[in-house]
Amino acid sequence: MDNCIFCKIINGDIPSQKIYEDDKVLVFKDINPEAPVHILAIPKEHIESVNEINEENSLIINHIFLVISKVTKDLGIDKTGYRIVNNCGKDGLQTVPHLHFHVFGGKTLKWPPV
Ligand code: AMP
Ligand code: ZN
Repeated sequence: MDNCIFCKIINGDIPSQKIYEDDKVLVFKDINPEAPVHILAIPKEHIESVNEINEENSLIINHIFLVISKVTKDLGIDKTGYRIVNNCGKDGLQTVPHLHFHVFGGKTLKWPPV
């Protein structure tokens, strides 16, 4: 999608610190990290938010979580733990309208997030 910052990262028009990439998914470092490990896992297909997940495109969620399970092992935070966050829409404070899952780790996180 033309005006989408994450599509531009996927296309290479905007640089990113890539952690993992395959034909369907990209994982890269968040530009404004909130934890020692703060990465974003995104589908290469432009899907705006969880609201746009449907029967046709939902297999990507399965794949993203397989990738997160692998990447967190590679980063060594599988033993210490981590948090996966998806912000959806206005009240969820989603700022980039391209589906993404934050992964936070590398320290003990706070809870609750509200
Ligand atoms: P959200 O508020 O859930 O939509 O999160 C969007 C995230 O994207 C924020 O944590 C931003 O720091 C991050 N972000 C925005 N632009 C970039 C970029 N060019 N490279 C890496 N992360 C970015
Ligand atoms: Zn996009």
